Amino acid sequence: MAYTLGNAMIFTGSKLLDKGYVSFDNGKIIEVGPMDSFYGHVDRDLNSMLVMPAWINAHTHVYSTLARGMSVEFHPISFTQILQQLWWKMDRLLGAEEIGISALVAACEFIHNGVAVIFDHHSSPGYVKGSLEILKREIVNIAGMRGVFCHETSDRDGVQMESIEENANFYEENRESRCVSGMMGLHASFTLSDETLDIASKVCNGKIPIHVHVAEGREDESDSINTHDAEIIQRFNRHRLLIPDSIYAHCIHISDGEIDMISKSNGFIAVNPQSNMNNAVGIPNLHRFKKSDAKVVLGNDGFGFSPSFDMRLLALSQKHLLGTPTAFSHSDLRRIVENTYELASHHLKERFGKIEKGYAADIMVVNYLPPTPMTSENFYAHLFFGITESAVDSLYIAGKPVMCNGEIKTLNEREIKRKARKIANALWERL
Ligand SMILES: [Zn+2]
Repeated sequence: MAYTLGNAMIFTGSKLLDKGYVSFDNGKIIEVGPMDSFYGHVDRDLNSMLVMPAWINAHTHVYSTLARGMSVEFHPISFTQILQQLWWKMDRLLGAEEIGISALVAACEFIHNGVAVIFDHHSSPGYVKGSLEILKREIVNIAGMRGVFCHETSDRDGVQMESIEENANFYEENRESRCVSGMMGLHASFTLSDETLDIASKVCNGKIPIHVHVAEGREDESDSINTHDAEIIQRFNRHRLLIPDSIYAHCIHISDGEIDMISKSNGFIAVNPQSNMNNAVGIPNLHRFKKSDAKVVLGNDGFGFSPSFDMRLLALSQKHLLGTPTAFSHSDLRRIVENTYELASHHLKERFGKIEKGYAADIMVVNYLPPTPMTSENFYAHLFFGITESAVDSLYIAGKPVMCNGEIKTLNEREIKRKARKIANALWERL
């Protein structure tokens, strides 16, 4: 039965309705318009709150939730040492229980921030087979979000065929779903042998998109040039891995030629400015991506859960990097947000990113009352300076109320956090 949100300010993705309604049924939006043309029953009066499309996160690691506050001996002098001293120590210990609870904690955080779809890059070398099914169960089936999952294939502990199989099986099993999908997860060029890339390429067969870290640290690019006599993207191309709709996370230290190759292969560059600044690995130069017309999408790399922070950091990082306040405009922000919807639309065979008839009913309600005139022309300026600081009140995913009035409906958040503290404590003791 159709459900209608009424008396809302609605940003449809292109137009702004001052006082409008949106009706949805069977997971899709069926009608949108001004209140004065609506004669049906309003199921929920939003009292002027803002309705807009829910967010997408194009690169994350939900298992990182268990690392919050964790203490390890940490004195890295390179990006690889950050992995060795922190993340690789932890992910080796993840089993079914840790994967499940980290997924639920992440789901709570994402939902509070209006995120409906995540592209998760998972790593649990000690528990590979079945790991993606756990993520699907907790994040999609239980929490009510949508997700595109993959397991990070890496040769850091020897060739890891199990991970390639996990990715391929999961992709095949979920091909028909509009809520869940898979990708071929690869860690990064510097931990992958030619043999593994060949096997992955054969399994992908030009059809399964890859999700990989690219030149997050400088050593990834120099390793590829020194060991394989090719830049990273050239190397992947040699192995026929530049598959359309693939995600290349970071791309901080790649050449203009590599950016061109990503662009021409219809790949997406996922930028994660907060994480990059936290790891002091450099800042992606969006100006260079723009010159090649490469599609940029926004992720968080598992650091924080609010796309708002990353949007703001991204803009500020570009202004700082190029030394001018005009280095990043509101239309740049708009393009990145729209690219991120396009990425999700390709993977889940659903239309995201607009409050319009036929689009997915993935809708967030934000408690934002503009203090100055807001129009479709200056919406992204309001987003950048104000909406990003306003609380997400409610979130509907595929038309289902996942959160209402700030309260998550699909999960017992208090109980999840209590259980997570216990499991995290046991995990930390094993480090
Ligand atoms: Zn990452």
